[in-house]
Amino acid sequence: MYKTVHLKKGKEESLGRFHPWVFSGAIHHIDGRPEEGDVVRVLSADGKFLAVGHIQIGSIAVRVLSFDDITIDRDFWKQRLSAAYGVRKSIFPQWENQKSELTNAFRLIHGEGDGLPGLVIDVYDRTAVMQAHSVGMHVSRHEIADALGEVMEGIIDNIYYKSENTLAYKASEDGGNGFLKGGLATASDIAVENGLKFHVDWLGGQKTGFFVDQRENRALLEHYAKGRKVLNMFCYTGGFSFYAMRGGAEQVHSVDSSSRAIDITRANVELNFPGDARHEAFAEDAFKYLDRMGDQYDLIILDPPAFAKHKDALRNALMGYRKLNAKAFEKIRPGGILFTFSCSQVVTKDNFRTAVFTAAAMSGRRVRILHQLTQPADHPVSIYHPEGEYLKGLVLYVE
Ligand code: SAH
Repeated sequence: MYKTVHLKKGKEESLGRFHPWVFSGAIHHIDGRPEEGDVVRVLSADGKFLAVGHIQIGSIAVRVLSFDDITIDRDFWKQRLSAAYGVRKSIFPQWENQKSELTNAFRLIHGEGDGLPGLVIDVYDRTAVMQAHSVGMHVSRHEIADALGEVMEGIIDNIYYKSENTLAYKASEDGGNGFLKGGLATASDIAVENGLKFHVDWLGGQKTGFFVDQRENRALLEHYAKGRKVLNMFCYTGGFSFYAMRGGAEQVHSVDSSSRAIDITRANVELNFPGDARHEAFAEDAFKYLDRMGDQYDLIILDPPAFAKHKDALRNALMGYRKLNAKAFEKIRPGGILFTFSCSQVVTKDNFRTAVFTAAAMSGRRVRILHQLTQPADHPVSIYHPEGEYLKGLVLYVE
């Protein structure tokens, strides 16, 4: 029987609205001393059952797995994974087995958006890369991998677990990264997105090795690239760069502070456009580069890492977005197009828009919003958990 978390009086409301987090301040007391990562039952002050979930240390104390009084076992994982896979089949009905010749990379599990808070699974061709953001998911990783192997039988051969950076202390304590199924011998590290190839660096790269969440935004960028001089700032593995090249850009410069990212960007461009002299890549800090660069660019992408990981960092983050965008507005050519993003969960669409608006006003440029961008459908948002809408983007026309 699971240990129990008793809420304070009146603190059951958000669970009643299916919001999947219990904050530590809502807890009255906990019975039975559960360990971090254990499944617990959550009860209201008057003893009514509310939810089962993983308990963890921090301001989010419980991440809800179910609002029904069930056991979290292999069947549970199987059921949630199949449901998520079913959603992907609806999203990409034209793909056979969720793959097409043109695209074989997609997100299978997007945390709360798929009823599995703390879990991310991306699929790259025949390899699934699984990442835990909670100790509970880490503890359950073998059971989840078993269930995943069954649900995706014949579709994936390998499951790579990668939580070194998302769960530093616990994952490094007992093994951390590694294959839970298959292995390097059968795992190709090349995946395809909209017909473009890329290396997925799941062993050393950030996140699960590639940012599948920018798939549609990259395709939009391709549409604007013809004849332009492009700066892809925070390029990581170069996704926007090779789309810009296919779109007919005159010149593409990729910049990232990580030299490993720059090496992969170069390799990815080479994979798609061997020997193409239009592309150059620089390992350099964004702010330094923006300060020293000229005014040749008329298509700039700013896709920085999350500036705010927590609510208390919000103010500084907004200042960061403002400064960054102000530099782009200062330098972009008249008639230029700016793709600007925030992937911070705590920065709302309005926050971000205000930061970019302030930067535009500071520069004195005339700016129109052409597109308002977000994450693609394989990164769904639970309607009860609006925080899941983490990616915000604006495409701006700068006179
Ligand atoms: N646009 C990319 C994803 C960007 S992730 C894509 O489509 O795949 C953010 C990137 O910003 C990371 O690669 C990180 O190395 C880089 N970065 C972080 N701080 C930076 C800085 N100060 N200057 C330049 N790059 C930075």
